[in-house]
Amino acid sequence: MLFSSFPTAIALVDGVSFFAACEQAINPALRGRPVVTGKERNIVAAASVEAKARGITRGVALWDAKKLCPDLVVLPSDYETYSLIAKRLYDIIRSYTPAVEEYSIDEAFADLTGLRRLHRCSYEDMCRQLQREIEAKLGVAVRVGLAPTKTLAKVAGEIHQPDRFGVINGRHIEDALHRFPVADVWGIGPATAALLAKHRITTAGQFIAASRDYLATFLTKPQLETWQELRGEPAIPFMTEPKEAYHSISKVKTFTPASNDRDYVFSQLLKNVENACTKARRYEQAATKCVVFLRQHDFRSLGVEATLLRPTAYPNELVPIVRRLFEQLFTPTMRYRSTGVILGDLVAASPTQRSLFEPANIIDKTRRLYAAVDMLRGKYGKHVVHHGASLAAQHTQHLSARGDVPRRKRLLLKGETKRRRLPLPLLQTSVN
Ligand SMILES: [Mg+2]
Repeated sequence: MLFSSFPTAIALVDGVSFFAACEQAINPALRGRPVVTGKERNIVAAASVEAKARGITRGVALWDAKKLCPDLVVLPSDYETYSLIAKRLYDIIRSYTPAVEEYSIDEAFADLTGLRRLHRCSYEDMCRQLQREIEAKLGVAVRVGLAPTKTLAKVAGEIHQPDRFGVINGRHIEDALHRFPVADVWGIGPATAALLAKHRITTAGQFIAASRDYLATFLTKPQLETWQELRGEPAIPFMTEPKEAYHSISKVKTFTPASNDRDYVFSQLLKNVENACTKARRYEQAATKCVVFLRQHDFRSLGVEATLLRPTAYPNELVPIVRRLFEQLFTPTMRYRSTGVILGDLVAASPTQRSLFEPANIIDKTRRLYAAVDMLRGKYGKHVVHHGASLAAQHTQHLSARGDVPRRKRLLLKGETKRRRLPLPLLQTSVN
């Protein structure tokens, strides 16, 4: 085990009840009150600390949540505001270290190794200062875990103190992991936990006490990396680069109410195809596989896929295929609540190879057409140009009550449009 406290120092920063906390941050009237988001789907997407204290958890139906807590404040999800606040959170972390991995919308790893002299303080003080700064500037609470590796930092974040700060010092790893359930370790899924239990390993302490040779007889390489990380030796690389290459791109959109209108459901699907293609072109990728799926009112999903004759990222080339796949799935007696598309097996886009019978000028026209579309979308918003058949989906994001649309999309600043808004969260405070 380690003989020094922090040969490497990794901090995990994680927003506490992040989406609900963002709502409370921009609207002080909601502070201290039980708040949930997810009104547009009738399911709790995030619950504030106060709502959690009343027994409300993510994924619960709003109907049941209100029974538990009649004074619950229910809001539509406002991902635009959440990601703006998340971006500010990352910016603050980056003012401490350039090595930041954005793990999820509200969770980041920060490599602080070697920065004690620069910041003139211990790693622990650095983390506490970071936490104070985030909470003071953004008004959202964050948990911070500090440890020599990413996996240990996740554990540290779990075993935090009431001040939302947890630390695992390299010299005290065994003490920290002694009673921590191995099933709760980041990277250990239920199947691995069951496998370890068969070998009488149920705590992280027992896991790290086992020898590598013994574990290697029944564990895979990634699982052994988790073991190594838990012992204080970094094994999982830090991903500081923003993701630029994708193996697949998927776009899914839920609409309410569920619909059995063939043209409407198809228009929703086509909008996803257009958005997925735009993203593929932005990263200069082209798809060789296309999967289409429809989710029914009863939450069952049906999907079907097709292999493409040549790689493409152009909706007009995909429409006939998507239409065929859609017709295979669509049943008029069924109501649908969401559609999705996955562009798979992406390859680097090259001047498109054509099949023997396709005239080169048509391919070239398509390329120039979409270059113009991308230019217009970049300038005037992504919905300014779209395929005719997706028209119905373009202007009816939600057909339900007005209250299901986030406030930020309804209250526009001067000069803003429904499609283009300044990257600013709107605070809901009044100045008297
Ligand atoms: Mg979180």
